[in-house]
Amino acid sequence: MDPVKSRLEKKPVDYNGFLQEDKKDSSMALGRVDRGRSEVSTPPLESWREERTRSEEDNELNLPTLSAAYSTILRSLGEDPGRQGLLKTPWRAATAMQFFTKGYQETITDVLNDAIFDEDHDEMVIVKDIDMFSMCEHHLVPFIGKVHIGYLPNKQVLGLSKLARIVEIYSRRLQGCQALQVRAITSIYLVLNCNVPLSVSFSHMCMVMRGVQKMNSKTVTSTMLGVFREDPKTREEFLNLIRS
Ligand SMILES: [Zn+2]
Repeated sequence: MDPVKSRLEKKPVDYNGFLQEDKKDSSMALGRVDRGRSEVSTPPLESWREERTRSEEDNELNLPTLSAAYSTILRSLGEDPGRQGLLKTPWRAATAMQFFTKGYQETITDVLNDAIFDEDHDEMVIVKDIDMFSMCEHHLVPFIGKVHIGYLPNKQVLGLSKLARIVEIYSRRLQGCQALQVRAITSIYLVLNCNVPLSVSFSHMCMVMRGVQKMNSKTVTSTMLGVFREDPKTREEFLNLIRS
């Protein structure tokens, strides 16, 4: 059996108290991580690991239906999908939406195969400022931000570019930010059997463009696994490194 796949399927993860959340209106809040209980309900976690619900062929096949749906949306908004400026809009919007959600076409196994190396290296590995573009599952509007992710190797390391790829796969789906974090770090944790922290600062267009309409509102959340959850010093080291 595929080694990455078997590790992903291997063990259940205890998600209790998994998420730590720190909401602030400024990215200055990045360093503060409350260990309080999360208000976030646990995302459906068992089904995501090897999920590939779409293929290139599906995209092609579904494009007419998706475009037709966008025409309906335009009409329902009081627009005329037949007017010149909108003639190709349903098709463009459908293609764009397929791109925004292209994470459904990939699995973590695609990315991690051939990218895990044995190495006796025990320094914290961190990749900062990974751009994240995702879509909120409640309103289908974007949330965008920066992800800082790392891990403490346990005899094995990942190719560095893979951390960004993992974020990419999980962000290009419909979800909330918490689900994204949990999926990203759990996959690394399961595959490398190591400790993983992750911090995200993001702007949610739901908040910026509707509702409270706060232009500069940013949410900062952190998710930690293993020693990063248990040991304040290790956690602090991670947070200091991503701030520097
Ligand atoms: Zn939303």
